[in-house]
Amino acid sequence: MSCKAANSESESTTKSCVEKALQSTEEAHVGDSFDPSEQIEELESLQAIFPELQVDIEKLSGSIKIPVAPTKSIQIIFRDDVGDKDKSDDRSVVYSLQHMPPVNFKFELPKSYPRSSPPIFSIESAWLPVQYKAKLINDLMTIWRQVGDLVLYSFIDTLLLAMTSEFELTTVTLPANKLDSSGNSLKAQILTYDVEASIHDFETQTFKCEICQYDKKGTSCTRLRNCSHVFCTQCLIDYYSACIEQGYISQVQCPEPGCSDTLKVLDELQLTELVGPELKNRYDDLRKKQAVEANPNVYMFCPREVCEGLVKRNADDLLAICPDCDFAFCAICKRSWHGYYQYCKLQEPPRDLILKYIDGDEGIKRKLEREWGKLNMSRYVAVYESDRAFQDYLNESQTTSCPKCSAPIEKSMGCNKMTCSICHTYFCFLCTEVLERDNPYRHYGSQFSPCFQKLFEGTDVEQAADEIDPNLLIRMVL
Ligand SMILES: [Zn+2]
Ligand SMILES: [Zn+2]
Ligand SMILES: [Zn+2]
Ligand SMILES: [Zn+2]
Ligand SMILES: [Zn+2]
Ligand SMILES: [Zn+2]
Repeated sequence: MSCKAANSESESTTKSCVEKALQSTEEAHVGDSFDPSEQIEELESLQAIFPELQVDIEKLSGSIKIPVAPTKSIQIIFRDDVGDKDKSDDRSVVYSLQHMPPVNFKFELPKSYPRSSPPIFSIESAWLPVQYKAKLINDLMTIWRQVGDLVLYSFIDTLLLAMTSEFELTTVTLPANKLDSSGNSLKAQILTYDVEASIHDFETQTFKCEICQYDKKGTSCTRLRNCSHVFCTQCLIDYYSACIEQGYISQVQCPEPGCSDTLKVLDELQLTELVGPELKNRYDDLRKKQAVEANPNVYMFCPREVCEGLVKRNADDLLAICPDCDFAFCAICKRSWHGYYQYCKLQEPPRDLILKYIDGDEGIKRKLEREWGKLNMSRYVAVYESDRAFQDYLNESQTTSCPKCSAPIEKSMGCNKMTCSICHTYFCFLCTEVLERDNPYRHYGSQFSPCFQKLFEGTDVEQAADEIDPNLLIRMVL
């Protein structure tokens, strides 16, 4: 005939419980003068004060879960017992927690209470250190000795304070593999409890949203994970969606004006939760584009067209690895990684592609850069442009005059060593210097000459020589 009175039970049920309890105690104590009405009255008034109190009127016993929420967070050290034997291998993990699983205060009132005996009680907790438990028991016994009367209210009140504002422990060390009385991992239980209690705290609070200036219940608010600023969820969704749709990527951060530079960056997952995967993808694309444009030497796109991930490159390292698809490639030639000591094989794009590149818009340029390498492309564009400038120059100046007799000489083809048809002077077409009679070619063979190795420069012969070797091999200097 158990009759537990829970806080949800109606008054009439509680009354009938009391009646049954009285009846049963009378039966149990036939011929005895024991009258439990004083104890029952105490239990009932306690229940009115602490609705979470569980009471068994029949047995004159009860229990209450004392919440543990110290003003300052507690450092919980989960000690790895393996690491304990060898101090150098300390694998302890420290958590800073705001809530710990409640401590259970259980009591039973003997017949002699409160006249001559205190309540029989226990403080149960799988994590509370034994010494702290002993201290609490001692505190309660001191109260009993001072009051010597109905003490349950004082007991519970003392414990509530001892587990919140007057909590004295800053650190609790527990074995990482400890199990609670039901065989579950104590560590998992403690960590889960802290998360759930924090969510409950948040949801029952009220916050003022700085965007819409309304007071909102925690259930319709979001706390930004990095900086902990709170706004109403709808305001954040609207704000970030507008920023991304209109391309204001740098504004996708905590909207609080005083937020710290390091913390106002958003948690990626949280942003996805707020704006949805589609807008988050657009945000990622815009951000990558911005990073590459602002710093082309540090950031580049993954050369794989299906991936296009943003790759951050170490300026001193040729090897680049895409964080998205793990493609390892050479940062110069953009081809799959060929090792540090291999040649970077840069291919010369066909002439029509170079022209297409020069005249093309951003999209065409980007596409060609991806296919032929950005550096490679700009290198061949530079070669093409200097060739063309030189050709223009030659076209303009295919006639020159002899430096000795000033006779006009027309250059038709062949090398740059000229012979005046009037005075037979040898001279250089490029610099118009008069050349030595016995060896006019020394002008092109001496390192100290301005025309060193330029015997055929700008001539048809040089162009023909180039076409023999279209692949330019560049030894990478590391
Ligand atoms: Zn709002
Ligand atoms: Zn913030
Ligand atoms: Zn990739
Ligand atoms: Zn390469
Ligand atoms: Zn001449
Ligand atoms: Zn010369």
